[in-house]
Amino acid sequence: MAGRLEGKVAIITGAASGIGLATARVFAREGARVAIADLDGDGAEAAARALPGAGHLAFRCDVTDRPRVDAVVHEVVDAHGRVDVLMNNAGVDGFGDDGRAQAIEHREPVLLHMGDEPFARMLAIHVHGAFYFARAAARSMWKQRAGSILNVSSIAGLAGMGMVHYATAKAALLGMTRSLARELGPAGIRVNAICPGVIDTPMTRAVPEAFLAPMVASTPLRRQGAADDIANCALYLACDESGFVTGQALSPNGGIHIA
Ligand code: NAD
Repeated sequence: MAGRLEGKVAIITGAASGIGLATARVFAREGARVAIADLDGDGAEAAARALPGAGHLAFRCDVTDRPRVDAVVHEVVDAHGRVDVLMNNAGVDGFGDDGRAQAIEHREPVLLHMGDEPFARMLAIHVHGAFYFARAAARSMWKQRAGSILNVSSIAGLAGMGMVHYATAKAALLGMTRSLARELGPAGIRVNAICPGVIDTPMTRAVPEAFLAPMVASTPLRRQGAADDIANCALYLACDESGFVTGQALSPNGGIHIA
């Protein structure tokens, strides 16, 4: 039986780890040729080598480096002649450089202790990075008159959970998703967001238990999600089965946020 992404070419950012890596595996299993773009170049290489099937590519790429993003998309199109799926997934959680420690010490909101740089960096990675990749990939998708762009947002973007810099960046991705869905839809390009709840990945394993435990306790399904829970949603949005779905935010979150 043909895979659900047979013959398609997918770029996934941040796929050396966690949700992106799980998605790369699912996409490859379903027949896609996957290009992994990650700050961690060695991790990207190792991930691409281990994928089932042939034609996978790996790039060391900081998504905030616009010329590098353009070069990566150019190389993928050079190699495969097209880009069918882009998943903007690369991200950081912002724990550590956000002023949280000082806020706890002074019993004040994190906002009062957050510096300009962490805020700007968060927007650069999540928003500017997604914009650079979407623009570069859309240039190819526009000529093909087809494509699917997935932006990995978060329940933080839907409901303001998490810190202000992260929630702001993830909410901006929802605006980008809706705007691009309208703009690119006439060319058959779909744009959707995925808003995961708490997912067990290297990112969350580094988050203090005191922050995570109450979130899991208030999740109706009483567990963290697995990276594959998100990868399976990404597969649906990437493949032709979701051909009439665009401008939407799908939130696999165990019920912690029900809108
Ligand atoms: P992760 O840390 O396991 O993976 C993130 C990957 O992004 C890493 O491989 C990292 O090297 C890469 N990356 C970071 N900055 C980059 C940059 N500037 N350029 C290129 N690559 C970069 O984390 P994850 O949990 O798999 O997160 C993936 C996405 O899902 C992120 O956007 C995150 O915000 C989002 N998300 C995660 C959760 C969760 O609970 N894990 C929940 C909601 C949303």
